Amino acid sequence: MRKKFIAGNWKMNLNKAEATALAAGLHEKCGQLDQVEIGVCPPFVYLSDVIGTLSDSNITVGAQDVYFEGNGAFTGEISVAMLKDISCPLVLVGHSERRHVLGESDALINQKLLASLAGGLDAILCIGELLQERENDQMETVLERQLKLGLASVTKEQMAKVTIAYEPVWAIGTGKVATTEQAQAAHAFCRKVLADIYDNALAQTVRIQYGGSVKPGNAAELMSNPDVDGVLVGGASLKVEDFVGIIEAGLTTV
Ligand code: PEP
Repeated sequence: MRKKFIAGNWKMNLNKAEATALAAGLHEKCGQLDQVEIGVCPPFVYLSDVIGTLSDSNITVGAQDVYFEGNGAFTGEISVAMLKDISCPLVLVGHSERRHVLGESDALINQKLLASLAGGLDAILCIGELLQERENDQMETVLERQLKLGLASVTKEQMAKVTIAYEPVWAIGTGKVATTEQAQAAHAFCRKVLADIYDNALAQTVRIQYGGSVKPGNAAELMSNPDVDGVLVGGASLKVEDFVGIIEAGLTTV
């Protein structure tokens, strides 16, 4: 029922030639696949080039962030309308680096999510606990808070446009991947919170991706968990072979 969604977050990496070459390589190897959904999130300045390269493919292009105001004196920020204007259909909100390096709060992330949905973008809401929070047995409290505050005022109808990415911060870019049991338990918990906020029927329709050191070698095991509906990939999304390997792993689980 839930189509697996495999998305790459290129973060602040690559130059224009590398970004378009990566997009072209993905287009060639898996641009026409439709058993799984594929997305890539390049840096803002390469969005138009990558959108152009992938225009006749099934690969979705997303931004890594967006600002919630419509326009005005917000130097350095990018609006939802600007993303729509360049035909960018998707955005990441609340990535752990935005939360923990750039200091974004749940309230700001919620404003960004609401503006994105109101403006017609699909969104991936990223959540996840720090190592210290996991060690202090606070994982569930943190995930519940991030979901409840992040999704505040998001309607049931709008949830059709939202994917959740569970990304334990201790697993992002560290090479430490959550065990399959840890991932499944966290995803099942997130689905329970979604059922509390909305209802069980709706919770069953929401895709929850896992993120954190996903590689071709661990992707199939992660995605074979019943509540893991795809992956959000950082480092391994920067090489065609690695990202294609993850997509192929995903295909074995559908
Ligand atoms: C991410 O940036 O969302 C991520 C999960 O990074 P990595 O795959 O490199 O851990």
